[in-house]
Amino acid sequence: MSLTLYNTLSRKKEPFVPLKKNEVGLYTCGPTVYNYVHIGNLRAYLFDDILKRTLLFNKFPVKHVMNITDVGHLTSDEDEGEDKMLKGAQREKKTVWEVAAFYTKAFQENMKKLNILSPDILCKATDHIKEQIALIQQLEKKGFTYFKGGNVYFDTSKLSDYGKLAKLSLDAEAKARVQKDQNKKNHHDFVLWFTKSKSQEQEMKWPSPWGVGYPGWHIECSAMSMKYLGEQFDIHCGGIDHIPVHHTNEIAQSEAAIGKKPWVKYWLHNEFLVLGQGEKMAKSGENFVTLPTLEQGGYHPLDYRYFCLGTHYRHPLMFSYEALDGAKTARRRLIDKVLEFKKNKDKASATKQKPFLQTFTDAINDDLNTPQALAVVWDVVKDEALSGKDKYVLLAKFDAILGLDLKTVKEEKIPTEVLRLAIERLQARQNKDWKKSDELRERISRFGYVVGDTKEGFEIKKSD
Ligand code: AMP
Ligand code: ZN
Repeated sequence: MSLTLYNTLSRKKEPFVPLKKNEVGLYTCGPTVYNYVHIGNLRAYLFDDILKRTLLFNKFPVKHVMNITDVGHLTSDEDEGEDKMLKGAQREKKTVWEVAAFYTKAFQENMKKLNILSPDILCKATDHIKEQIALIQQLEKKGFTYFKGGNVYFDTSKLSDYGKLAKLSLDAEAKARVQKDQNKKNHHDFVLWFTKSKSQEQEMKWPSPWGVGYPGWHIECSAMSMKYLGEQFDIHCGGIDHIPVHHTNEIAQSEAAIGKKPWVKYWLHNEFLVLGQGEKMAKSGENFVTLPTLEQGGYHPLDYRYFCLGTHYRHPLMFSYEALDGAKTARRRLIDKVLEFKKNKDKASATKQKPFLQTFTDAINDDLNTPQALAVVWDVVKDEALSGKDKYVLLAKFDAILGLDLKTVKEEKIPTEVLRLAIERLQARQNKDWKKSDELRERISRFGYVVGDTKEGFEIKKSD
């Protein structure tokens, strides 16, 4: 099966046909670096990673660009609320620049731990002010902007198809809402450049043709993606929250600038990681969980990766520690199996492997169906006709998508405490102290090991 992807623009699965042979342009919206990313954000980056790995698996030459939003932006998706970066800086008594550098580094560390492939270009908004100003000037020349109350606005009424991604019904929405920013001509208009805003203490400011100020949120993604991927490119992704405002406005300003042609061919969006009552995990929320929190709780970052693979990216994923425990156990079992298969000296048979490789590829090429792909993983593990060698070869191939480090897993050393208890148990058995022997077996099992008796003494295995 060739690759099909669900395009938010058409609300359909479409065959993936790249615009150019020699480069597939992929742009993913990165984090706003005023705080740690939470595991909900990381679900979005894991989805990007599966998409990128699937493109590579299908031999498409991907060029991946991700932005870092390090310039202030308001806590609401509209032009209201507090400045996020400024809020972070005040909380931590640091400059906004220090806050941005700190959380960018933390974000990169998280990506690495989750085996997320690094983007080819990771670009900061603050390093591309010149490009953002140039794009706003282009829009100004074409008559898509107006200057009011010290700020430059994008005039959404100048575009006939504004809101096509989100299928916004503009009239109804405009009537239903009270206009908070009196300078706006139309409800959906948005700021391209601020010289006056609610955050006058803004530390990050640059000179511009409209006065000293800073860019609005959306312009950075249009400016940077087009700089690195050209005026038209293949895929743009982000979480579903970006559909109605951020991506809608990115499309508006980009298509206004490049003329009457589609800017991005495929738009892909991941659903949320949700908590108890189905509420979205949010940076501003109280219950947000980070990757280091999981690590402190005894989970490996790849347990979280495995957990995310178990649900399709277009379905909400309910987070609970019980569910994460399930992923942890399954990943450990998989590693043990891989270690066992790795030792197998049988001949590999490409003919026997072929149907499994095909079903796996079909699953992943069907709009990145990772739960189905994981089911194929376990079919391989359990299959009785495949040799251990075949199984190892197949799982290593699948890992190009799964990213679970299956090729480099190592035999886990038996903890010395478990060994000590096993020796103590052997002595108890030699003394015919069966009660003590049973107690020690029970203590060993609490470490996740099973002890058995052999002619030579004992053997220890990981429990299933
Ligand atoms: P932000 O830093 O808020 O711009 O978010 C970074 C990325 O994470 C965006 O693509 C968001 O859509 C995505 N995101 C935010 N919250 C969640 C969540 N709870 N589950 C999945 N993705 C999320
Ligand atoms: Zn963006």
